[in-house]
Amino acid sequence: MTTASSSVSSGRVTGKVAFVTGAGRGIGRATAIMLAQHGAKVAVADRDADVAQEVVDTIESMGGAAALAVVDVADEDGVRQVIGEVVDRWNRIDVLVNCAGLAGIQKPIHEVTTAEYDRVMDVNVRGIFHTTKYAIPAMTNGGSVINFSSIYGLVGGASAESPYSVYQASKGAVLGMSRGDAMMYASQGIRVNSICPGFIDTPMVAGFLERTGDAAAARTAAAALHPLGDLGEPDDIAYGVLYLASDESKFVTGTALVIDGGMTAA
Ligand code: NAP
Repeated sequence: MTTASSSVSSGRVTGKVAFVTGAGRGIGRATAIMLAQHGAKVAVADRDADVAQEVVDTIESMGGAAALAVVDVADEDGVRQVIGEVVDRWNRIDVLVNCAGLAGIQKPIHEVTTAEYDRVMDVNVRGIFHTTKYAIPAMTNGGSVINFSSIYGLVGGASAESPYSVYQASKGAVLGMSRGDAMMYASQGIRVNSICPGFIDTPMVAGFLERTGDAAAARTAAAALHPLGDLGEPDDIAYGVLYLASDESKFVTGTALVIDGGMTAA
């Protein structure tokens, strides 16, 4: 779990308004805190009010600015409402980080139910459609959209023991939507990019490892997939988001930033 440093610096995203989904745990939490440390005002969006409030409190205790946005990204009306509240409070949105995601089911596709398929797509793909739809009109001064795909949007899973086809389909769709949106909104100064993490040490991955029945052995096996020798930490990804959110990446759009310890190069 990421730990916050003690204060907000004059930073790389000072003055920007960021809306971060899945911000209550894992990579989203690390991202929300890092953006705030670098001067952004951050709307902390998660479906779990308690964990989101903890992140808001952490940011405020550092002297940063945060707003609570309790929402299930699969709920279009809820997304429209919370984005409207952020715009009412801070006038616009500059950075949208679509981090909320479900690992979904680990079953061969012939055993996946339609309801299971729909839930993964509703969160991982439709959720990004919802937030992008309502955030883009609020990006009145240009902006940066950062969508979470995965190495599993790029390559197949590690083995037949970990069938992940529906998740992979959802993360491939994120790459396509990101490229399309990048072209659509470039003329408005709105950049759209994806991030493809390898295995990162988060509650999502902890759940994945536990479901194997031998979490320690599964962790060792997962670490071995990465030439750099271990799972990544949430901050390893948050630094990538910070770059894409900042004006340092003003010439970057329509791309996918792979942060995977070398996994997909192996
Ligand atoms: P995580 O530890 O499960 O945290 C995700 C957060 O998003 C949780 O607080 C979760 O709430 C919330 N969330 C889930 N569904 C939501 C919804 N419908 N609406 C609002 N909030 C929702 O996940 P993570 O590992 O940080 O992953 C973050 C993103 O990176 C995901 O898109 C994931 O697919 C992607 N990714 C992760 C890895 C990795 O190795 N960790 C690798 C590649 C890509 P609940 O806990 O209540 O579900």
